Amino acid sequence: MTDDTTQLAVIGGGPGGYATAFMAADLGLTVTLIDPAKNPGGVCLYHGCIPSKALLHVSRVIAEAGEAEAWGISFGKPKVNIDRLRDWKNEVVSGLTDGLGRLVRQRRITYLQGTAAFLNNRTLAVSGAGGGDDRRLVFEHAVIATGAVPVRLAQLDIGDDRILDSTRALEMAQVPKKLLVVGGGYIGLELGTVFAALGSKVTVAEMTAQLLPGVDRDLVNLLEKRLSDRLEAIYKNTTVQALKAQKNGLKAILRTGKDGEQVRLFDQVLVAVGRRPDTAGLGLQNTGVVCDERGFILVDRRRRTAEAHIFAIGDVVGEPMLAHKAVHEGRVAAEVISGREALYEPLAVPAVVFTDPEIAWAGTTETQAREQGLEVVVARFPWAASGRAATLGRSDGLTKLVVDPRTERVLGVGIAGPGAGELIAEAVLAIEMNASVADIGLSIHPHPTLSETLKESADVYYGTATHFRRTKGLRRS
Ligand code: NAD
Repeated sequence: MTDDTTQLAVIGGGPGGYATAFMAADLGLTVTLIDPAKNPGGVCLYHGCIPSKALLHVSRVIAEAGEAEAWGISFGKPKVNIDRLRDWKNEVVSGLTDGLGRLVRQRRITYLQGTAAFLNNRTLAVSGAGGGDDRRLVFEHAVIATGAVPVRLAQLDIGDDRILDSTRALEMAQVPKKLLVVGGGYIGLELGTVFAALGSKVTVAEMTAQLLPGVDRDLVNLLEKRLSDRLEAIYKNTTVQALKAQKNGLKAILRTGKDGEQVRLFDQVLVAVGRRPDTAGLGLQNTGVVCDERGFILVDRRRRTAEAHIFAIGDVVGEPMLAHKAVHEGRVAAEVISGREALYEPLAVPAVVFTDPEIAWAGTTETQAREQGLEVVVARFPWAASGRAATLGRSDGLTKLVVDPRTERVLGVGIAGPGAGELIAEAVLAIEMNASVADIGLSIHPHPTLSETLKESADVYYGTATHFRRTKGLRRS
């Protein structure tokens, strides 16, 4: 075995891991980044955010082309060349991951293509790096950024390759005629949207009473309304009891509530029922790192584990499992390791579901405020009153503010509509800067844009919105 040394070993090259490595290198540390792939990128770039957003953009183009008929423009029925579509998606991914490889080299980071496991609390064995034997890497600090893997359901694990997880679905081998999506969460609804646009008849089976459980109902209701037109069926309170492989498809037994049972045939089944931390084979038992009962690594506000020189960030430390949260945590960890004072304590971690409409939220939601017994007032601005939304033919959106009535501080923002994922960034800044409702209302927003819906919802709070006259009092909880 060859012994190498490094000031910082970063395990996992997803957005959290590579952002940590880049920040640490920029702060002057000697860094080794370890990942099985040829270039950094992780699930986000190779099998998650980026390929799915490329395909969701295609869905949006198809949907808008269809809607344009109402404005006198006809494009005809879309012809899908699945091979070219797959190539394009792969080109997007390889362009970005190759770019990350270049950034690694520019920063003189040592990149080991392999898999790391702790031998003890100062040494890693890296297998697959440079062929041959494992390498031993002695580190001063380590950051664990190994992410998460899909949860598998035992009753659906029948070893049939027509059962997909998100990685397999994104390979886009084919467009199934009939697709069952198990799980009405982020992945199920985003990929369900993609396949529906490409021509699949999509059925969603969600175990709980609501799509996107826990997410603000006002936002989810708008999404569900539109999805109901585009998907074959949405079943809530529904689980898949069993799958049976047949020549002509997969027979699924769906159970809704206590006794609503139906048997349906699908060409493929996508299982998207959540993700769990990926620590298998990491050798954590050879360190003092401690996990909770669900397997998430326990960390403090500096992202330190129970071993003071080993840090952990991203999906492996818990919800929300979002790339931008991992990036922020990783940059905090890199600062702490380089000797700076830094803490991970965001007031708002934005979340975006890239469906149509997109839904996005940041800070405290109305649902959370109610659950936590917080006194809040909610100001809602319907996009039916937005000029820009009308020009897009998308008056079905909503922007809402959750406000502390004593201080008039904005505690949270929720948005449903095209571009909600971009619009939410203003909300994050407002919450982080302790902005009041008046601060948003008094900031001049460009016209005609959807960003005005944030300003107008602030004005709704005071009953002075230019384009919306509220007839009822504000919702309070
Ligand atoms: P999720 O937690 O978003 O959704 C899983 C859904 O499956 C839930 O609605 C849950 O109630 C349901 N479910 C669980 N068991 C079930 C069963 N037996 N039958 C039917 N339904 C069942 O998880 P996901 O969609 O797998 O995504 C995993 C994570 O990846 C998300 O939590 C999110 O953090 C991340 N992600 C984020 C984005 C984004 O930021 N846009 C996109 C994709 C994934």
